[in-house]
Amino acid sequence: EAAKRTEKVEGSFDIDLPDAEIGKVCTRFPPEPSGYLHIGHAKAALLNQYFANKYHGRLLIRFDDTNPAKENNEFVESILEDLETLCIKGDMLSYTSDYFPDLLKMAEKLIREGKAYIDDTPKEQMRKERMDGIESKCRGQTVEENIALWKEMVAGTERGLQCCLRGKLDMQAVNKSLRDPVYYRCNPIPHHRVGAKYKVYPTYDFACPYVDSIEGVTHALRSSEYHDRQDQYYRVLQDMGLRKVHVWDFSRLNMTYTLLSKRKLQWFVDNGKVDGWDDPRFPTVRGILRRGLTVEALKQFILSQGASKNLNLMEWDKLWTINKKIIDPVCPRHTAVVKEGRVLFVLRNAPDQPFVKIIPKHKKWEAAGKKATTFTKQIWLEAADAAVVAEGEEVTLMDWGNAVVERVQKDDNGKVVGLEGRLHLEGSVKTTKLKLTWLADFSELVNLSLVELDYLITKKKLEEEDDFMSVLNPTTRLEIEAFGDANMRNLKRGEIIQLERKGYYICDLPYIRASKPIVLLAIPDGRQRPP
Ligand code: ATP
Ligand code: MG
Ligand code: MG
Repeated sequence: EAAKRTEKVEGSFDIDLPDAEIGKVCTRFPPEPSGYLHIGHAKAALLNQYFANKYHGRLLIRFDDTNPAKENNEFVESILEDLETLCIKGDMLSYTSDYFPDLLKMAEKLIREGKAYIDDTPKEQMRKERMDGIESKCRGQTVEENIALWKEMVAGTERGLQCCLRGKLDMQAVNKSLRDPVYYRCNPIPHHRVGAKYKVYPTYDFACPYVDSIEGVTHALRSSEYHDRQDQYYRVLQDMGLRKVHVWDFSRLNMTYTLLSKRKLQWFVDNGKVDGWDDPRFPTVRGILRRGLTVEALKQFILSQGASKNLNLMEWDKLWTINKKIIDPVCPRHTAVVKEGRVLFVLRNAPDQPFVKIIPKHKKWEAAGKKATTFTKQIWLEAADAAVVAEGEEVTLMDWGNAVVERVQKDDNGKVVGLEGRLHLEGSVKTTKLKLTWLADFSELVNLSLVELDYLITKKKLEEEDDFMSVLNPTTRLEIEAFGDANMRNLKRGEIIQLERKGYYICDLPYIRASKPIVLLAIPDGRQRPP
């Protein structure tokens, strides 16, 4: 039990599962296909994969599809795709619904052995009785009575629909999860895989230990909020007469300013608050990757938390800082100038004819390729830069050289509307205070929409009982129009770049035609606060 907990940083940690033998460990990731995978699920999946690899064992992927009201094939497919994106490959893929016939038999066996009974106590009353340790009036029914009612349930008759199947465990147990948990419920809704064949469905508490044991799982990893249900899991397996499986807890991942509940995320989708499950403001695997997170950063982040069992609230900044270290050394550099208030800088001694130079997209990473930079006699500066240059000041024009500002033209409000000066290419970049980005004044510039995104909610740590609708962030998307260098016409969707002096961006919508801006989403780098 006493697992060693000496955590290391950067994507590995030293921790052992109890009774783990090389070559014999089998873990599993059991998503319910009731939504898209989010970063919390990614943690569970990555940890399961980590231990399977560590012990040269096996990883099972199992769809825990026991609630037809919430599940569908779209979610199954998206989960499979996302696991592939995360490079998580199971040695076997299964569905809890594959075991429905066996689970029915097991239920009947437990009834015949007096280990389960049918109960028609109304839901609220059952909840109260469980809290108070009061036995149901049905608990003493004979096996024959239970079997008769079970048949009604399985057939979905009117009488059957009033009932559920409960394990006969211990109504006085201090651990309330042992107070006769529900094993089967009626549900007339057709199932996405097996259709309308069944009128009854097993609960997670019943199906999960069964399938874990049958499939050969040796270590069932569960997030720690289920810790209290461990005894129940073991007891259910024991009543079923099946091989024991180790349950092993890890901490549930929570992120600041973030909802990690499929039901709540579904609300945002249904109410048009986001584009869909892959919205870049969403904590879904699709959302965060679309926002510019790399799979490598996600892995390092998750594994650096190790298997600590504390419920943890993690900062997004920590994840984005890891990401920045991964993208910065390799992402191409480009230039953009915000359109609003941009200013022309006339360089009177520059060549009259535009000229082009081929320069690397990343000075220290040749593989990033090359770009064509156009030089013109008048160039665009951003309003914010133009506002701070002084007459007579020598500045550095990036990728060109120094220039001296000779005249600053202002309008009646004191806003800079034009600059004049001359190149001073002999000047040293070491002597200048301002290193300015600029763009040639020519027709090949592309239109950009620079998008800044913010958290969907305004509360850092959302408690279970908080009403998330009362903390919705009213503005979560800000767009700024800009010009970009002509090379950006070739950006592909998902490509990550750095805009010099602005930050990292991911291409969300590539160039289609001149009038339609390329959409670049700002990638947080762990330092900038959202607007
Ligand atoms: P949700 O509450 O979003 O519906 P869930 O827990 O019901 O999530 P499942 O599909 O049942 O979702 O979860 C699959 C696996 O992912 C489970 O092993 C679960 O413990 C784990 N998991 C879910 N959320 C988190 C989280 N925030 N941190 C760590 N593991 C998680
Ligand atoms: Mg679940
Ligand atoms: Mg949950």
